[in-house]
Amino acid sequence: MGERVSLAERLGADAFDTDSTSHLTLSDPALCRTCALRPCIRVCPAEVYQWEEDRLRIRYENCLETGACRIACDTMGNHALVWAFPPAGRGIQYRLG
Ligand code: SF4
Repeated sequence: MGERVSLAERLGADAFDTDSTSHLTLSDPALCRTCALRPCIRVCPAEVYQWEEDRLRIRYENCLETGACRIACDTMGNHALVWAFPPAGRGIQYRLG
């Protein structure tokens, strides 16, 4: 049996081909200001979403493309998130191991 590898080590082995434009956008940033739970911040394993000052900061470069934030926003949030995959095959490139 092989040596156990932590989640952080596995994620650290992944590569990112980051596009210059975010694939995660907001239909209306004002919706996030009145979002009671802001579940996107809690569900994202890569901590893409952070609340800074009075706005939602989206660090799309770290996106793992799980789609968890999309479901969270649609079910518990204010439906502001416009989710898409990065264009032309960009984004995360998983390395299993
Ligand atoms: S869950 Fe949706 S509406 Fe709420 S803060 Fe996140 S992106 Fe904005």
